[in-house]
Amino acid sequence: MRKDIFLFSFSTLLCFAGQVNSQSKKAPIDAIQQAEIKRDLFTLADDHFRGREAGTLDELKASMWVAEQARKAGLEPAGDDGTYFQFYSLLRERVNDHSTVKIGDRTFSLWKDMIVWEPGFASVDAPIVFVNDPLTVDEATVKGKVVALQFTEQDLTDPRKIIPWRYVTLVVQNCVKKIAAKGAKAIIFVSDDRAQQAWARAIQDRIRGTYRIEGRPSRQLLNGIPIIWIGADALDLVRVPNQQFQANVYAEAFTYPSVNVVAKVKGSDPKLANEYVLFSGHTDHDGVRNIEPGKDSILNGADDNATACVALLAIGRAFHQQPGKRSALFVWHGAEERGLLGSYYFAEHPTVPQESLVAVLNADMIGMNSPDSAGLLGITPPHLNSSDLANIALAENAKGPKFKLDTEWDKASHFEGFYFRSDHLPYVRKNIPAIFFTTLTHPRYHTPADEAATINIEKLTKMTRWMYATGFGVANAANRPKIVDGFKLEK
Ligand SMILES: [Zn+2]
Repeated sequence: MRKDIFLFSFSTLLCFAGQVNSQSKKAPIDAIQQAEIKRDLFTLADDHFRGREAGTLDELKASMWVAEQARKAGLEPAGDDGTYFQFYSLLRERVNDHSTVKIGDRTFSLWKDMIVWEPGFASVDAPIVFVNDPLTVDEATVKGKVVALQFTEQDLTDPRKIIPWRYVTLVVQNCVKKIAAKGAKAIIFVSDDRAQQAWARAIQDRIRGTYRIEGRPSRQLLNGIPIIWIGADALDLVRVPNQQFQANVYAEAFTYPSVNVVAKVKGSDPKLANEYVLFSGHTDHDGVRNIEPGKDSILNGADDNATACVALLAIGRAFHQQPGKRSALFVWHGAEERGLLGSYYFAEHPTVPQESLVAVLNADMIGMNSPDSAGLLGITPPHLNSSDLANIALAENAKGPKFKLDTEWDKASHFEGFYFRSDHLPYVRKNIPAIFFTTLTHPRYHTPADEAATINIEKLTKMTRWMYATGFGVANAANRPKIVDGFKLEK
């Protein structure tokens, strides 16, 4: 009797289990809760984490918090040595404070009335030649001299130059290699009105120096040829014929820890569980800058990229509630703002076999702009690296949020080059199918005004559900997404 009851119960259980299993293709999208997303966003984008700058304790603290939330969400550790963490070293080089510049009789003061653009070692004592057109100047004029020029608004048709900081960086990038190639000993830029508007921001950026990881090239433009930037008040000084320039520039180097947080939900299919759908975001932002009394100096990066971090936690909770056939891997990258360094590191040193990564779904800034629009990058050639993956994402948009998708920002011709500016890129370079979910930039981007209170939480929830549904579809698809034949990025 007891035995019979047992058998009956067991078969009922099997039957019930079969039903659950037959429904397993439907994603429990309601597991993604707007209230939880809001709670997490307001915590991660709070002043408490001081802008989560890479290579600081603030990034580490924020990463610990993310790992703790992942643990609470039921995710298993998938970093190094059974932990949630993959640590790596950030190599930082910066201009040493003892660097000096003198023009004629005037001594300039570092980070006050002069900016040294990048760290290096150089000792220069040479006359200045002022040039009006740096791009056409000949070698005979420049060789052995210090070239001075003023920032110029020529070519302002380039829309990037409307923002003073981009204007300055583009002019510097356009000029310095060409001038250095003609034998200049140093290069002096003098502000015009537009460049001067970027002065304070430039100091905050340049004082930090440059960051890289082992195995990645330095982002320096020149080596051993000082690039100096001074104010317009020094224009007459550098125009004096054969004016003398003397500089001693020094650099110093540091190594800091940075970290990727890595977690997983194991797939339900014994074979496919060895394959991973990778959900990607970045924890870091730009820290504390331009401290002035009474002004907000903390760049909380609520949209960039606390939105994606909390989206990944919500997606993790949904996968924990119902795993896909393939495993779900979650990587909260560090040091994205310093040059995609965490994602380059993980792509080079994945904690699961590289060939087991079937797709990367990256999100960066997914909570701003009009409620019914979004961007999906990696769906337009030459950025389309997997039609299979793009089609799943597009079909899920049609089924779910029905965002009106931007068609401009993914184009190779788009002036922002946005496709190259987030964490899917290192994986794309490894030929792993990848797409990039974003709601694009806005005037608060990379300013202290990017705050949790300005995020459209309802839209963020929709973006999270869309990303989740796409990943769940990939996790349960019969075949892993294929790479487009002959796929090659334009740069
Ligand atoms: Zn970002």
